[in-house]
Amino acid sequence: MPTPPSYADVESAAARLDGQAHRTPVLTSRRVNGEIGARLFFKCENLQRMGAFKFRGAFNALARFDAGQRRAGVVTYSSGNHAQAVALAARILGIPATIVMPHDAPAGKLAATLEYGAQIVGYDRYTEDREEIGRELAAERGLTLVPPYDHADVMAGQGTAAKELFEDVGELDALFVPLGGGGLLSGSTLAARALSPGCRVYGVEPEAGDDGRQSLRGGAIVHIATPRTIADGAQTQHVGELPFEIIRRDVDDILVASDAELVEAMRIFAATMKIVVEPTGCLGFAGVRRLGREVSGQRIGVIISGGNIDLDRYAAMLAGPWSARG
Ligand SMILES: *Cc1c(COP(=O)(O)O)cnc(C)c1O
Repeated sequence: MPTPPSYADVESAAARLDGQAHRTPVLTSRRVNGEIGARLFFKCENLQRMGAFKFRGAFNALARFDAGQRRAGVVTYSSGNHAQAVALAARILGIPATIVMPHDAPAGKLAATLEYGAQIVGYDRYTEDREEIGRELAAERGLTLVPPYDHADVMAGQGTAAKELFEDVGELDALFVPLGGGGLLSGSTLAARALSPGCRVYGVEPEAGDDGRQSLRGGAIVHIATPRTIADGAQTQHVGELPFEIIRRDVDDILVASDAELVEAMRIFAATMKIVVEPTGCLGFAGVRRLGREVSGQRIGVIISGGNIDLDRYAAMLAGPWSARG
């Protein structure tokens, strides 16, 4: 049985990532503080290498490969940021990478993954099981599978973003973190418990699929159908087993945000803070806005998880009016 990482693993991950990942900036806005009535600190992982925090977990996992694993290569399945993160980390470390991606993945994501030198294996997302294809490739070719969130080294790597946030701004009253499979939330929770013990930790997931909230409240992982939402980085059907061990123990609550609320947050980020954030990256801030008065006067951390979005889609969303058709 694999065991979840501890904060010591987040510290080791930070040492491995030193000089490889950006120490991303923490932005603040007087205007946003005024509107919320609190002091907000935004950790900008949209400005991370390849455009999302996922580089941290992928690099940490691949950097721990032994010589044999490095020679044989890595395999993963993802149509999103984890694919690009593994491809980039593998290129840096000189490890061959194979990515299982749907034939209909966005052209930009396919191109970015190929550009990083990875080999793409296509599949039909309606008839084939990507996890099975990944496992088969791993077995046939001797590749090491690095899944997007249910992996101790990935979780520890993701926790380094929140570690930097606490180091830069000190203790906080609450931390808001986007939630898909739970790699980012579990790693962030380890950092919060170690560096700011009194800090409340909230995961925020799409309203269209509140499996994380149901899982936390019921004490067991709930599986749902793929939710229809513009937050494509959080379209997971269930949280991972290892992340859930930490989430169940130490996360205070899980909130939800609608697609319309995510677009509003994207607009505020663009207009007020001049940053491009993808819909999934807006979940944390949308969660703060949902709580509203409950956080007034507090010091609040928000993880902005990524900024990868096709520009035409981005422009169309900002132009609105956005109706949440999914
Ligand atoms: C993957 C991803 C998430 C969700 O992370 P998990 O570790 O799966 O919970 C959130 N935001 C962005 C931008 C992502 O790429």
